[in-house]
Amino acid sequence: MKKRTFLKVSTTLAAGALVTPWLTSCGDNAATDDSNASNGTFTPYQLPELPYAYDALAPRIDAQTMKIHHSKHHAGYTTKFNTALEAATDLHGLALPDLFGSLQDTEAHTALRNNGGGYFNHDLFWKVMTPTPQPISGDIKSAIESAFTSLDTFSEQFHAAAKSVFGSGWAWLCKGNDGQLFITTTPNQDNPLMTHLVEQPGTPLLGIDVWEHAYYLKYQNLRGDYIQSFMEIINWAEVATRLKA
Ligand code: MN
Repeated sequence: MKKRTFLKVSTTLAAGALVTPWLTSCGDNAATDDSNASNGTFTPYQLPELPYAYDALAPRIDAQTMKIHHSKHHAGYTTKFNTALEAATDLHGLALPDLFGSLQDTEAHTALRNNGGGYFNHDLFWKVMTPTPQPISGDIKSAIESAFTSLDTFSEQFHAAAKSVFGSGWAWLCKGNDGQLFITTTPNQDNPLMTHLVEQPGTPLLGIDVWEHAYYLKYQNLRGDYIQSFMEIINWAEVATRLKA
């Protein structure tokens, strides 16, 4: 390569390297659900849009519950997560799984734990439900049958786990580091990506919110009926995608 050509190529590459981070941290390209800006700069997370209308899951989950849950609760977690994250400069630039994996049981990390968890958990929750549920099939079906012997046994165990959460929290179907699926629960807005904070860390594939705000308007104290309804509208294609990731 002639020297002049080489210089021109280098200049183009350098310019590209400078321009790209700027582009990815501005305007419509603000951080989405799985990463913050590159190069350690802070980009606020945005409230993810629901993948369906507020009334799309009715009658199993009513429109008013969905609207308050998304536009008030999830929005609140998102705002407070951004406030906490902006101050935590040492965590800027981390993808969410790494950020959660770095959290410790300390006062300094409490707001990130509660609101970062609230941000991520609800984003997953909306996506693992669908107004047009399809039967489970393929690799996720095989993986569940392998781990729990049958789909019915999985459903019973997941239902029981969700019902057993004392107070506010979540029940999860997760993939462990060994690839095995397991069911676990977490209190408050903790999730299984918080390696140092949960009993059984893993990658969440499916999660149900059993805070009363998720069901009380329609189901009052009948959490079991709400869990049953949730299990009828699981988006297995989304769960399958998370299994492969
Ligand atoms: Mn919630």
